[in-house]
Amino acid sequence: MNEIWQHEDIRIHLRKRGIDQYTKASYPVRYGVFSEIETRDAILQFNLNDEIVQAKGKGREWPDPQEWLKRTVGNDWIYYSTGGYAGVFEAIGEYYLPNTPYPTNSLIGGQPLSLPLVARITGSWQNLLRQAIDRAGGPPAGIRHFLDRALANSPEVLQKKAETLFAISGGRITVLPPDTRHVDYNVIPLTIAEGCLYKCRFCRVKTDSPFKEKTPEGIAVQIDGLTELYGENLANYNALFLGEHDALCARPDLLVETVGMAYHTFGFSGSNMKGTSVFLFGSVDSLLNAPSRLFEDLKKLPCSFYINIGLESADQETLDRLGKPVTAAGIAEAFARMQDINDRYFNIEVTANFIMDERLPENHYPAFLKLVRDGLTRNKPKGCIYLSPLRIGKPSRSILFEFNRLKVLSRLPTFLYIIQRL
Ligand code: SF4
Repeated sequence: MNEIWQHEDIRIHLRKRGIDQYTKASYPVRYGVFSEIETRDAILQFNLNDEIVQAKGKGREWPDPQEWLKRTVGNDWIYYSTGGYAGVFEAIGEYYLPNTPYPTNSLIGGQPLSLPLVARITGSWQNLLRQAIDRAGGPPAGIRHFLDRALANSPEVLQKKAETLFAISGGRITVLPPDTRHVDYNVIPLTIAEGCLYKCRFCRVKTDSPFKEKTPEGIAVQIDGLTELYGENLANYNALFLGEHDALCARPDLLVETVGMAYHTFGFSGSNMKGTSVFLFGSVDSLLNAPSRLFEDLKKLPCSFYINIGLESADQETLDRLGKPVTAAGIAEAFARMQDINDRYFNIEVTANFIMDERLPENHYPAFLKLVRDGLTRNKPKGCIYLSPLRIGKPSRSILFEFNRLKVLSRLPTFLYIIQRL
């Protein structure tokens, strides 16, 4: 129930309505339905389970009134910065730059999470909440109930919930597809297959386990566990991540049936957020081997699909150096199929990742441009290319310069891939 209550300098708004569609905006946007506490010092926002999900400080100590903190379902605090709007949108396709508390491959951004007020909020937001409760006196029953639940969702409880999520999925989701940026990384993870086909030498996220599909029964158990864990806040979700590293390699029937089951059980048709998106990774072989009937079946579902393929390089020497056991000819073939699917199916977008590094063989970038520039006769709005710096925690001006050069030359939308986990 929507309720607003004010006492001196504390204002509490229960079940406030944000925007119901993901959008790219150069100002802060709040999505779905949430509750908000505003005090003299900070604004704290809570999801429908009354778990803290966003926060920002007020006053001069806060870096920028347009910037905020978000807590993920994996219990990471991410700082969303404008980057001074200097080239952030051109670089990543979003107006805000996510700054993570763990090392990633980002070329831009700073260390905002270690700024004093930012660290104070992530480290002791519960004290801010307690102070608000003390000063609030005797609020009405509905507000009191919300405050009690918010306080009960302590940092320890939230960490336990994150661990429950990892247990349901069979482990932490160490990397999300870059396309999940379209839903601000708010996805429900559902693992339909573990492992991957290649075990590339350069890859940091691979697991030891060989590629293995989950059984329909195992997937149903995950869906039940996720429904319980996400609880009332399921109503704020409209997006699914089909894990792990190569869901496209799963049996087509399993993939299609899993999406249908998740769509109905998670109640996506009645979500507070419009539209439904499904994200997954694929590989060169899974894309080339996927039967056309899979895409025909996906076309009939009420969802937008984003399939991200790790191509890495179109140059054989680079592929060998990376230890990726595919051929440059296979990469070119996969790239061609990607174009064909993107042209043919309005609700399916296949995107691709390529590696960037200063120490790659000299034909890596020419071979890349042969695909994304010479291989296409016109600029296309669909089929994003994501360039991923190979090394973690090594921002480099020369790579950023190279990225800008490649972006200008590419006939496809081209962005940097900032690796985020869940
Ligand atoms: S890059 Fe993809 S296919 Fe290669 S090891 Fe990593 S997860 Fe597996």
